[in-house]
Amino acid sequence: MIQLVTTKQEFLDLRSKKSGTIGLVPTMGNLHEGHLSLLDRALSENDLAIMTIFVNPTQFGPNEDFDKYPRTLEADLNKITNLLSEKKVDKDVIVYAPATPHEIYGDNFSTFINVKEITDVLCGAKRPGHFEGVGTVVYKIFSLTKPTKAYFGQKDYQQVLVIKRMTENLDLPIEIITCDIARNEMGLALSSRNQYLNATEMIEALHLSQTLNSIKNEITKESWTNAYASLNLILENETKNNRWDYLEVLDADNLKEVRPETSRVVIAGAYKINNTRLIDNLLVDITYA
Ligand code: AMP
Repeated sequence: MIQLVTTKQEFLDLRSKKSGTIGLVPTMGNLHEGHLSLLDRALSENDLAIMTIFVNPTQFGPNEDFDKYPRTLEADLNKITNLLSEKKVDKDVIVYAPATPHEIYGDNFSTFINVKEITDVLCGAKRPGHFEGVGTVVYKIFSLTKPTKAYFGQKDYQQVLVIKRMTENLDLPIEIITCDIARNEMGLALSSRNQYLNATEMIEALHLSQTLNSIKNEITKESWTNAYASLNLILENETKNNRWDYLEVLDADNLKEVRPETSRVVIAGAYKINNTRLIDNLLVDITYA
């Protein structure tokens, strides 16, 4: 059964009546198969699930798409209903969709979570303040929902690392689960922002996952040491294409440069098509010659 609440008080009243393990799925709504796969997993591993749907203003920069971000609560609820009936799930899903930012932030809001170091690169470097907004809202959602486990997509790889670091540093008793990236049949990672693209742009967007895959192929073909030259050639060629906001291969554990201790890398890219910025990544285990 789905229980929809839109105010903090309603949510807290409902939450106080629930016991057992709780799987949390924080989202900004406009649900697609990626979000639903997180919810599916949360339901399979817990007694009930909480999905939050909140387009969080503090994680958007001044020139970003906060105003036009798609808000589709009714369709989202239908998708959750369909998931429950298709998978024959007989568990409760609380959907907490605060109607306004004030519902979440209240008055006099002046406390922020600032995870350092791993936010100095990739989206952290390109979107100043973004991870402060993410960390702060996720901390608040954790405090309100008190989940056993929280589910995040690998799609936002740096975000998962930020949330894991915050959870560990602040001793939050929550297990953070990373879920696989859901893609369309062409390999494009699903994203609410894909709907900003027209048909031609959808095809152009494939360059993002295709480039990540060709870098992955270079890395898996041989040892990291031997792949290094061809890998750098691709990176050098690609940077001539000014659609890349970034394209980097970093140590997957700490987002630092690859060192001899590195056993897994993340190939991460942010690619802009007109006003739409898409991100994607691949994780690859590496060996040395
Ligand atoms: P968002 O609504 O974009 O903030 O995403 C909410 C959650 O869904 C985040 O943990 C995302 O990483 C995750 N997510 C978004 N797109 C995908 C995808 N294609 N596959 C898996 N998880 C995703």
